[in-house]
Amino acid sequence: MPRGRALVVDDSAPVRAAVAETLRQSGDLEEVLEAADGLAALRIMAEAKPDIVICDLVMPGCDGMQLLRLRSAKPELTGIPVLILTADTELDRKVELFDRGATDYVCKPFDPRELVARVRVHLRLKLMAEDLAAANEKLVRLSCTDPLTDLFNRRHFNNVIDVEVARLVRYGIPLALILADVDYFKRVNDEHGHQVGDEVLRSVGTTLVRSVRKADVVARYGGEEIAIVLTNTGTAGAFVLAERLRAAVERSEVRSGDRAVRCTASFGVAAADGPGDVASASTLVARADAALYAAKHAGRNRVVMWSVELEEQD
Ligand SMILES: [Mg+2]
Repeated sequence: MPRGRALVVDDSAPVRAAVAETLRQSGDLEEVLEAADGLAALRIMAEAKPDIVICDLVMPGCDGMQLLRLRSAKPELTGIPVLILTADTELDRKVELFDRGATDYVCKPFDPRELVARVRVHLRLKLMAEDLAAANEKLVRLSCTDPLTDLFNRRHFNNVIDVEVARLVRYGIPLALILADVDYFKRVNDEHGHQVGDEVLRSVGTTLVRSVRKADVVARYGGEEIAIVLTNTGTAGAFVLAERLRAAVERSEVRSGDRAVRCTASFGVAAADGPGDVASASTLVARADAALYAAKHAGRNRVVMWSVELEEQD
């Protein structure tokens, strides 16, 4: 199955055509592009993102060495392997090519079988590295995602809150935490079944994500509890946002057959306006939790801010 695209760079049209034709006939590639000098090659590399470049060393204007030099300044291009075609038999020159970032070289006049074999090896390595990077990215995403709601999970929440508290303590960047809990969630499960209960949780999650700002982190904290980390937000901003979230959840509904299931949620908010307000993530979580408890106690479907007085009431 041909996969990947090659770019052949040579100032000599006959050599370029011969190299390109050899690669096309190998059947390894989906497409073979061509360029007559290094600058045109760099442009094509940036636009078409070929998977491998086979480049002549000696060209008028921007030659192979120059192409390697210019490529090394562009991080987005350094992952593309470059094979240099060289008539040069001098050892120093070849070593220099590798120092400049060449992946390999092929001597001219080239043997088609050797060229195809080397292109095949480097193409395979490049595509494998890409597949691995994509798989890693997927794993990272999975490792911080809650499978039911598609929100961030508790593990990611813990990381984010630790980092944000450190930024608060070190740089004084304000931080707020909202803990939201779906009201009478057990009743939803009992009356409509767990599938509808799951759907309600997903729907509340989506509503919250849509209502926060891009930098805010919405995570499933556990059960029917959702945590929202508000970066760079102090007491006043956190209260306004929490109230907006509460109203949004109250307005939303989930369809269950021909019935609409509605729910509300209670919100506990704890904010730190300056570095002296909170020293650890666990303190902030405990405060938001105490405020959430107070919101439940006061009748649910409401927002309660943590305060010293709140603690004293208990
Ligand atoms: Mg040449």
